[in-house]
Amino acid sequence: MKDWKKIIREFFFPPHCLICGEVLALEERGEKLCPKCLAHIPFLTGDQCAQCGRTIPGKATCHRCMLEDFPFSRGAAAFSYEVMRKPIACFKFQGYRYDGAELGGLMARYLKERFPDWIEWTDMMAAVPLHPRKRKKRGFNQADLLCRKISAETGMVYVPDLLRRVIHTRPQSSLNAAQRRENLKDAFALAPGAQVEGRHILLVDDIFTTGSTLRECSRVLLRLGAAEVRVFCLSVVEDFQSV
Ligand SMILES: [Zn+2]
Ligand SMILES: [Zn+2]
Repeated sequence: MKDWKKIIREFFFPPHCLICGEVLALEERGEKLCPKCLAHIPFLTGDQCAQCGRTIPGKATCHRCMLEDFPFSRGAAAFSYEVMRKPIACFKFQGYRYDGAELGGLMARYLKERFPDWIEWTDMMAAVPLHPRKRKKRGFNQADLLCRKISAETGMVYVPDLLRRVIHTRPQSSLNAAQRRENLKDAFALAPGAQVEGRHILLVDDIFTTGSTLRECSRVLLRLGAAEVRVFCLSVVEDFQSV
C-alpha cells in the first residue's frame, strides 16, 4: 500500500536533486543528489574568510568582518547562498522539513573534510533559535534540524533549546545592517538553568547574512561565561550588496 502511494506521489511530484533541482532519473531515486552534484558537491573551498566563511582569495578575514569585529572567534559555511537559495527556500517555506537531515548531513561532511579539528574542539552545539510563535507557524526550527543531523554524524553534543528567542522581532530581511542590530537587542536569552561556563560552543544557523543574529547569540553565550564561540552555517551570502 505504502509503495503504491510512493509510486503515485513520485509520478506527480518526481524527486529532484536537493542542490541543483534536476529531476532525478528513476534509477537515482534512492538518492537525494543527482550524479553530477554527488560527484562534485559544490562546497565552498579555497581561501575563505575565517569569520564568515565566504571566498576571499589571499586574505584571512574579509573587509566586512574586519570592520564588524564579531564576538565569535571563527566562522565557516559549507556553501555559497547562491547555490543554496532554492534548497533553503523549499526546506523552510515549502514544508520540505525532511530535507533538513540531508542538508545537515552535507554540513557534517563539510566539517569532517575541511575543519575536522572543530569537531574535537566543540563541547556543545547550539542552534540559533526562532521565536516560539514563528517556530509554531513553521512547525520546526531549521537550525535545530540541521544540528540534530550534524550531531548524529559527527558525535558532537547538541543541546536543543540552549538559546531562546525572548522577543518577537521584525523579520531581519526587511532591515538594513544598523536596524538589524537594534532589532535584535536583548532578543536572545539562555535557557533557565543551562550551563555554558568555560565551554567551547559551536553555534549553527542556515544562512550567514550580515552576522547580526549570530553576533547577538554569541554575545549572550560569552556574557554567561562561554570560553569561546564559533559559528557554522549551511550557507553564506557572498555578495553583501544584494542583501
Ligand atoms: Zn544536482
Ligand atoms: Zn567575512
